Amino acid sequence: MQVVGDSRHRSVKRTLVREQGDNKEDPATCEQLQIMKAYIETFGCQMNERDSEIIAHLLGRASYSPAADIDTADLVVINTCSIRGKAEQKAMSLLGRLAIRKKKEPRLKIVVAGCVAQQEGQKIIDRVPQTDLVIGPQEIYRLAEYVEEVTRSGKSIVATGLIDNFAIPNLGHVSPAPAVSRFLTIMQGCNNFCTYCIVPYTRGRETSRPAADIVAEAEEMIDSGTTEITLLGQNVNSYGLDRGEKEAFPALLRQVAALPGLKRLRFTTSNPKDLSPALADCFKELDKLCPWFHLPVQSGSDRVLEKMNRKYKRAEYLERVAALRKACPNIAITTDIIVGFPGEEETDFLATMELIKQVRYNSAYSFKYSPRPGTVAAGFADMVEETEKSRRLTALQARQNEITLEINREYEGKIVEVLVEGCGRDPGQWRGHSPENLVVNFTADDKKVGIGDYLQVKIGRGCKNSLRGKAV
Ligand code: SAM
Ligand code: SF4
Repeated sequence: MQVVGDSRHRSVKRTLVREQGDNKEDPATCEQLQIMKAYIETFGCQMNERDSEIIAHLLGRASYSPAADIDTADLVVINTCSIRGKAEQKAMSLLGRLAIRKKKEPRLKIVVAGCVAQQEGQKIIDRVPQTDLVIGPQEIYRLAEYVEEVTRSGKSIVATGLIDNFAIPNLGHVSPAPAVSRFLTIMQGCNNFCTYCIVPYTRGRETSRPAADIVAEAEEMIDSGTTEITLLGQNVNSYGLDRGEKEAFPALLRQVAALPGLKRLRFTTSNPKDLSPALADCFKELDKLCPWFHLPVQSGSDRVLEKMNRKYKRAEYLERVAALRKACPNIAITTDIIVGFPGEEETDFLATMELIKQVRYNSAYSFKYSPRPGTVAAGFADMVEETEKSRRLTALQARQNEITLEINREYEGKIVEVLVEGCGRDPGQWRGHSPENLVVNFTADDKKVGIGDYLQVKIGRGCKNSLRGKAV
């Protein structure tokens, strides 16, 4: 996977279970707290990171305390991703290591959550009988109950229910710790069935949370100190369509943007087919809406797009890019690309290379096609050789890196606003994001700087993955 310019797309993240202060007073629970320490290992996208925060919150409510590391945990949750084979293999190899440990420490509870859990179900327990609970994305809200049942009965459970019109429970404020920038899930699932993609099978049909719940959660985040919110979903611009509401997403953006105390609003991800003129207009209208749009193209070839069931053509995609740039000339556009999709020929690949030159993406996540079980494309006969996929990926990433560097160099000498999120890599350095979602590392001399500050930073150097500068 190529990561250019946005460190927020992490592949593994550790989520701490929130300590429940109230419970510490009670000696009985105190004993339990010492015994029950939980650790969550998260693979995959921001949706999974957010799910892990929910799991941490629920385990905290059930009197689990955070384990300092995986080795000292009594309960380990592996929150898995099955979007590509590699992510699945990583999760399964962690499960293998935990199973060996459980043979020596039978008290250890092992939970496999997320998309691999949904996809494989009972097969995980057949393969690794030390697994206590296999739990799919729609069931995580009952995770603590299931763990209790497993502990009581000593029998493994597979909870992989997946229903249409699933009502996402409203848990109120779910934040493991105050943070200046947070993700807020507005919908789950996907109805698009791109032929390569496992998501509709593991996360079910699209279901949108009521706007009132989303706004209430955003208000709680803001009250706790958050000033930047990113609305999350597999296809946020079809928000509300499952309830038959048209243009509900621009309306939601207006509602959230109107909240006092919020400074920056973002969203991800969007399918180009649902990018309406009303959504593009939001970038003209809403000052808080950051000039960044993640618009996955997947391929520059109409033939491949059709086989992928993407439901747009290259020309339509380019029209949407033009509409976004007309509404917001400084908008940063990022994308996802798959190379080596079954039947992709050299001419198709060259069409993708041409497209990235034409659009000039700020950055791109690019992947080799990975066949996923049960998807339509996994049954296609004309698979591309692994070595050829690698060659195409290397060529594409090299071209995109050049473009990213060129664009980042255009920032040299300019002043950008940065939300300070933490320390940079080098001593004395700070790190944050610009409105365009570019990573900015900067120094501040003797100026007082704190996490959550919005600072003006003069860019001295545009690099491949970030901008470097100095606070002014
Ligand atoms: N909903 C978003 C959209 O429509 O573009 C994408 C979400 S998907 C979880 C993230 C990215 O993973 C996709 O955009 C695609 O590039 C990549 N992806 C999905 N399935 C894949 C597969 N089987 N092989 C390689 N990459 C894949
Ligand atoms: Fe997967 Fe396509 Fe849905 Fe995105 S729109 S989650 S790529 S099926």
